[in-house]
Amino acid sequence: MLYLDAAATTPVRREVLEAMWPYLTGDFGNPSSQNALGFSAATGLTTARRVVAARLGVRASEVVFTSGGTEADNLAIKGIALGDPRGRHLIVSAIEHEAVLESARFLQRLHGFEVTMLPVDAVGMVSASSLAAALRPDTTLVSIMYANNEIGTVQPITELAAIARAAGVPFHTDAVQAAGWLPLDLGVLGVDALSLSGHKLGAPKGVGVLAARSRVPLEPLVHGGGQERGIRSGTENVAGAVALARAIELSVDPDAAGTSRRRDRLIAGVLAAVPDSELTGHPTARLPGHASFVFPGTSGESLLLELEQRGVVSSSGSACAAGSDEPSSVLLALGIAPGIAQTAVRFSFGVDLSDDDVEVVIAAVAASVAAVRALAPR
Ligand code: PLP
Repeated sequence: MLYLDAAATTPVRREVLEAMWPYLTGDFGNPSSQNALGFSAATGLTTARRVVAARLGVRASEVVFTSGGTEADNLAIKGIALGDPRGRHLIVSAIEHEAVLESARFLQRLHGFEVTMLPVDAVGMVSASSLAAALRPDTTLVSIMYANNEIGTVQPITELAAIARAAGVPFHTDAVQAAGWLPLDLGVLGVDALSLSGHKLGAPKGVGVLAARSRVPLEPLVHGGGQERGIRSGTENVAGAVALARAIELSVDPDAAGTSRRRDRLIAGVLAAVPDSELTGHPTARLPGHASFVFPGTSGESLLLELEQRGVVSSSGSACAAGSDEPSSVLLALGIAPGIAQTAVRFSFGVDLSDDDVEVVIAAVAASVAAVRALAPR
């Protein structure tokens, strides 16, 4: 079986499991406890926080461990918007993850915010001029994702963040898919807040990070015992934090060039082998291990089954939207017709996919599309 659904989730790496194991067994203490077990757990948590902070170029006190990418995005959007609003206007891109979009809709519904959704072009790029035009004196936050989960497009985050900064508006980026491939230093990127998720990086599901500059006021969303400097109460997931830190350390030097080369071969091979197939997202400014297509005259769901029978595990788009009959809002935002959007398939992979594997995938895609088209009424 070839696993090409890494954008949905990744297996826990052995080194990560080994790093977290002590905190699930011998050193199982509560980091708030004033006893030896508690001190060990607190030390593990502090070390993990330092590792993450160093990688993100922030102070340890600017790292908030969360239950995952969704919570990190919620905390960024709601926490910053409600923390010290300059006004009640938010800017997000039209292709954000639901965690960002639904948080913005929540603020619109219950807190009277106005939300501007920045359009994207046909390959999923946000334009700097559309951001500049959308900024207003009452804009409280801009949130634009670093790399898109469905189409792989990577945004010019540094350029976009600079526009928001010039206007004095905090800028958040969802870096859940970018992590492991692209630079994450908040200072270098010029962003004020950045979300990560452990399970896309070889750590377990259920742990994430929001890194947020201390100059940006952050209203807590989870109230309780005051853990995480009062920003995110609840007994800390020490093993999860240790795992995420280890996963981040291990992802320092990915073979991005080799993976991009395999991605390009996969894209070229599929486009050549499958008549009428089209790439979705940007041809070059895209995640190294990400190739996504539409195959008119098929259905994404049928293709997944055919591909799986041929030993290739893939996805019809985002794991969250999969299973729903609605066409992906990301693909619609690119201007793709709803009927075509339902024929989308995404292949996402890491450094372990070999050149030979890529050829196997291309052949499986060609055979699967042919099989589905042979059955479909045209
Ligand atoms: N943001 C993006 C871009 C994602 O791809 C995902 C997960 O698919 C999330 C946020 C949510 O992360 P989590 O699954 O950790 O809640």
